[in-house]
Amino acid sequence: MEHERVVIVGGGPAGLATAACLTRRGVDPLILDATDEVGASWAARYERLHLHTPRIQSRLPGMRIPKTMSRWVAKDDYARYLRGYAAAHRLRISHGVTVTNVDRRPDGRHVIDTSSGPVDSDIVVIATGYNQTPLIPDWTGLATYTGDFIHASQYRAGADHRGLEVLVVGSGNTGSEICADLCEQGAAAVRLSVRTPPNVIPREFGPIPTTLLGIACDFLPAPVADPLISVIQKFSIGDLSAHGLPPAPGGVVAQMRETDVVATIDVGMVEQLQAGRIEVVSAVTGFAEDRVMLEDGSQITADLVIAATGYQRSIDGLVGHLGVLENGRPTVRGGETHPNDPGMYFVGLSNPMKGLLFQINLDARSAARAIGGAIGHDTQGVPTQ
Ligand SMILES: Cc1cc2nc3c(=O)[nH]c(=O)nc-3n(C[C@H](O)[C@H](O)[C@H](O)COP(=O)(O)OP(=O)(O)OC[C@H]3O[C@@H](n4cnc5c(N)ncnc54)[C@H](O)[C@@H]3O)c2cc1C
Repeated sequence: MEHERVVIVGGGPAGLATAACLTRRGVDPLILDATDEVGASWAARYERLHLHTPRIQSRLPGMRIPKTMSRWVAKDDYARYLRGYAAAHRLRISHGVTVTNVDRRPDGRHVIDTSSGPVDSDIVVIATGYNQTPLIPDWTGLATYTGDFIHASQYRAGADHRGLEVLVVGSGNTGSEICADLCEQGAAAVRLSVRTPPNVIPREFGPIPTTLLGIACDFLPAPVADPLISVIQKFSIGDLSAHGLPPAPGGVVAQMRETDVVATIDVGMVEQLQAGRIEVVSAVTGFAEDRVMLEDGSQITADLVIAATGYQRSIDGLVGHLGVLENGRPTVRGGETHPNDPGMYFVGLSNPMKGLLFQINLDARSAARAIGGAIGHDTQGVPTQ
């Protein structure tokens, strides 16, 4: 069995950033990634997508995003940046390798089961992504629904659905942008199914990107931050009740801390809503033949239903049996480790106010620092033991 000092599971931004920070400390980690090339998950996302966090908040440690990629980086440009990042840091990546299980041996080392055979490693970094597996609610009747149905991860462009009546389920960042895209690209009708009204915030407040304010909000108590954010909401978004979208039940920070639900950053949905091109309907409760059942008792039909109902981490199957998770999520991140496995680190698996890519930047540095210390490499990359 191959022996490695450090294996990183996942070669997205979190895995690449951790590997680059380790490389600078003289550690040469092996990244195992299920996809065929760096940036594959970004390249596969829908065409209209640009980062919601500005360029400076989205860079990884050790390399700026070029100014030519503009303030709001397009998803293909971000994939290109990641490819350049991996090449510049000469990262060792095994592509097309899926990790199926990680075990801890009595001597503290790990056995990593992969689609290409087992790998043995002292340290394991789990960087498989917060948005790894598409999540579809357990709706009754979905299996026998006769209409067209996709998850938002399969959506590519509004132009593919021109002239159709589309129901988008979920008013988070993805669902609301898909609604805007469908309207702009000529869908015949767009309905948005909302269970809990979202906290809609602008992408910029004057010249300031709103997500930069999120960095400060991460340190503030909700009763302090939320009244400030609601002033921004009031002046830039206003009350959308007349257009079918009532105010959210709680403030942005309170909602995020209580339910993990982030605010919806407006990149065109509000304009379409105000123009009457999006009809808001109540939550989907199930499906019956060609009909969609809604919470208010009504039933509707659609040419296409798009479930913008989120993603899940899916790390339970990989490491849940090691006792390092609570309710499927790690309780530590960055340079911290769980007492049940002091050789396992987690990067990119939380959902912070400050933006996930910004948090990845911080946590990759701190994981590399801790790993460097644990295996005896100081900051100049010189072994100290
Ligand atoms: C549509 C969308 C837009 C986003 N926009 C922003 C934004 O503007 N700003 C921001 O800060 N964040 C944003 N995020 C959140 C987050 O920053 C990104 O999802 C980012 O790509 C996370 O990086 P990651 O490396 O943690 O995970 P991923 O990019 O998901 O990478 C994980 C990698 O691990 C691999 N992998 C997973 N499981 C296994 C396994 N078992 N074996 C081998 N390989 C495996 C996957 O193939 C993948 O390559 C967005 C997310 C989505 C879904």
